[in-house]
This record gives sequence, C-alpha cells and structure tokens, in this order.
Amino acid sequence: SAKAHGCNIIQLYNASLRANIEERIRIETELRQAIKRNQLQLYYQPQVDLHRGCVTGVEALLRWQHPELGTILPNRFIPIAEDTGLIRQVTEWVLQEACKQGKTWQESGIEMLQIAVNISAKQINDVAFPSLVSRCLSATGFDPERLELEITESSAMENPDFTIPLMHLLKALGVKLSIDDFGTGYSNMYYLKSFPVDKLKLDGSFVQEVTTDKCSHAIVSAIITMGQALGLSVIAEMTETEDQVVTLAEQGCDLVQGFYFSKPLTALECEKLLWKGAVALPKALQ
Ligand code: C2E
Ligand code: MG
Ligand code: MG
Ligand code: MG
Repeated sequence: SAKAHGCNIIQLYNASLRANIEERIRIETELRQAIKRNQLQLYYQPQVDLHRGCVTGVEALLRWQHPELGTILPNRFIPIAEDTGLIRQVTEWVLQEACKQGKTWQESGIEMLQIAVNISAKQINDVAFPSLVSRCLSATGFDPERLELEITESSAMENPDFTIPLMHLLKALGVKLSIDDFGTGYSNMYYLKSFPVDKLKLDGSFVQEVTTDKCSHAIVSAIITMGQALGLSVIAEMTETEDQVVTLAEQGCDLVQGFYFSKPLTALECEKLLWKGAVALPKALQ
C-alpha cells in the first residue's frame, strides 16, 4: 500500500542518513590519525602557459589514501576538517609538503615552476595564518615567489575587511595570491579592486560551456578583459577539450589547466612532464 511504501522510504532515508553520519564520524576520527600515519598525499596538475606553450606551474590537490575506504577526495573531508578545527594541521601539512616538493624540483633544475596551494576560508580568517606560511617557507627554503595561495572568491568575500589586511601580510612574505572559482562567489567589485592578488582563476562551470553557451562565452570574455585591465593574469580551470583551449586562447586567456593537457598526477608522474616542459598546443594555436 501507499502507507507501507511511505514507511519504506522513511526507513531508507533513515538508513542513508545514519550511514552518512557514521561516515562523517569515521572520517572525523580517522583524519586525526591520517597525518601521522602518512596517508595524505599531494597530486599535482600542470598549468599551461598558452603564450609560450609550456608548463609554468602546478596546482597541488590533496588526496587521502585510506587503507580501507580507498582514495578520499578533498570535498569529502575538507569540510569536516574545517568544522572540527583539524584544517589548521591539514593546511600546514599541505604547505610543508608542497614547498618541500617545490624546493626539490627547483634544485633538480626545473625552471620557472610555480606551485599553487588551496587555502580554506578558515585559514584566511585566522590571524596566525601568515606566520604558518612563513614557517613553511623558512623550514623548506622554498622561494616565496614560487608559492601561490589560491583563495576562493566566496571565502575572500566572506569577511573582506579582515581578509584584505591579511592578504597584504601574505604579499609581504613574497608569495603570490590568486582568486579561485572566480565568477561564482558574487564578487563585490569594490573589494575585488582592493585585493592585492596576482591572478584570477575562471571557474570551471563557465569554462565547460565556453564553446556551447553564448552567455558563458560572454562572461568568460568579460572576465578576461577585466582581469587584464586590472593587470592580473587569467587562468581557466577544468579545460577539457581542444575547442575550449582554442576559444580561451583567442580571447586572451593566459593559462589553462584541465584534463585536456593533464589530469592531476603523482609527484613522480608530474616530474616527467615537467622535465619535458613544452606541451603540444592545438594546431590552431601553433
Ligand atoms: P579547485 O581548487 O577548484 O580544484 C579543481 C578541481 O577540479 C579538482 O578537484 C581537480 O581534480 C578537478 N579537475 C581538474 N581538471 C579538471 C577537468 O578538466 N575537468 C573536471 N571535471 N575536473 C577537473 P579535486 O582535486 O577533487 O578538488 C576539489 C576541491 O577541493 C578543490 O577545488 C579545492 O577547493 C579543494 N582542495 C583540494 N586540495 C585542497 C587542499 O589541499 N586544501 C584545501 N583547503 N582545499 C583543497
Ligand atoms: Mg584551486
Ligand atoms: Mg577552482
Ligand atoms: Mg572549481
């Protein structure tokens, strides 16, 4: 009957809710151990300079290699880390690891390489964050100019009167700043003008429609024009197809990142690509 059917749905809902809560508790408890047990790992995704046809940077993307649950992606555990305060230790681990890897690559002779690290909203509202970055830089000896901190547009806009002075402290360390997922965070242009940033990262949702949707094409083109007028470089994330690369290049986009050139790679895989340096641009751009 309909009633029995309704009950089943509620039971199913309860079961899946319980499974969710159980997973959450498990992630929360085990994340505390994950750092000590060496289960966190950074993948690196190449960023291609369209003017020069070579890889000039990588974005570090966090993975948790769980012995039973397999690879856990950041969207599943970063929000939990933020809620529980573990994000501080996670960010410190990520920064240390990225700077250590960057230093190793720099010393092995790989030139012109920037490493971008994602920073949570919690961190850019934490007065102690600049000293954490400073500690990682001095502990590893990594050149600050080669470290880029990605701050999402929505977290940068959460509390701009606090974030702007903090960004200035970070800039004083010599690091680069970029605004991640740009275009989705209801930007306040007044604040955007005041952010001491170097780069805009066009959100993937526009990039993925740039060749198929007139509005997305117009937005992408307007953001690139605005970024350039503000003296910022513009990178497109989640660039998957040749048509997207060509369209972005035609509009003056400086850099692209995405599956078209490479998925996120382990440090070892990435190193091979970095040694080659040059990548094959689409024929239309050669
Ligand atoms: P994000 O910084 O916007 O990173 C882009 C996401 O798109 C990554 O997902 C990447 O693997 C994926 N991606 C790259 N190229 C393509 C493509 O061509 N097509 C598609 N469909 N996807 C692509 P991932 O690695 O799962 O990371 C998700 C989000 O988690 C990141 O979004 C970032 O906000 C956050 N995150 C990653 N690592 C860290 C970290 O170390 N700390 C913090 N706080 N957040 C992190
Ligand atoms: Mg990012
Ligand atoms: Mg992004
Ligand atoms: Mg994104």
